[in-house]
Amino acid sequence: MNIIFLGPPGSGKGTHAERCGQTMGIPRLSTGDMLREQVKQQTKLGLEAKAYMEAGQLVPDEVILGMIRERIIAPDCANGCIFDGFPRTEPQAEALAGILTIDAVLNLALSDEAIVDRMKGRRCCPDCGHTSHTSWMNGENCVQCSKTMIIRSDDMPETVLNRLQVYHAQTKPLIAYYERQGLLRTVDSTGDVSMVFERVREALS
Ligand code: AMP
Repeated sequence: MNIIFLGPPGSGKGTHAERCGQTMGIPRLSTGDMLREQVKQQTKLGLEAKAYMEAGQLVPDEVILGMIRERIIAPDCANGCIFDGFPRTEPQAEALAGILTIDAVLNLALSDEAIVDRMKGRRCCPDCGHTSHTSWMNGENCVQCSKTMIIRSDDMPETVLNRLQVYHAQTKPLIAYYERQGLLRTVDSTGDVSMVFERVREALS
């Protein structure tokens, strides 16, 4: 089973894709996490991607597709996977269609105002990448590895606005793209995590 999680930044894709992956026993493939790891390791790819990420722009399609092609041949993807933050452009979606069959596309819908509001409280662990929100956190430390959680550089308010613009211009058209293919299931992402996850589960059942 291959599922895509679509939605604007801050709509909860990572959280719900992770939960779904755990429930279904398949891995969550986040291109954002993969890129952050490359940046952290200071690889050639990471150094190339860093400037785009910090500006809230998309990393070039060829870079992303190279990473995905390499990742999906790993044994843990044999029964499928959950794509989080990929595809983000029509060329990425076309390329993905040539590699494997997509079973469903889950679109998490949230208004721009709600996104800006949510992003203000988003925190990330610099060590393990765990993401949380100040309204759910008890203190400032990561629940997974106890490091102090930080604000991701691309979650700063001015970058968030860029990312939203990029989403509307380049990624939102994928909603219509997958709707035409009969794969789209849209879920309202307002409300608390467990409420939204219940909607996600229902939409994918
Ligand atoms: P995310 O963690 O998914 O919000 O991604 C963080 C940043 O990584 C994005 O703002 C982009 O700069 C880059 N990125 C992640 N996934 C992609 C993708 N599929 N295509 C292009 N850039 C991406």
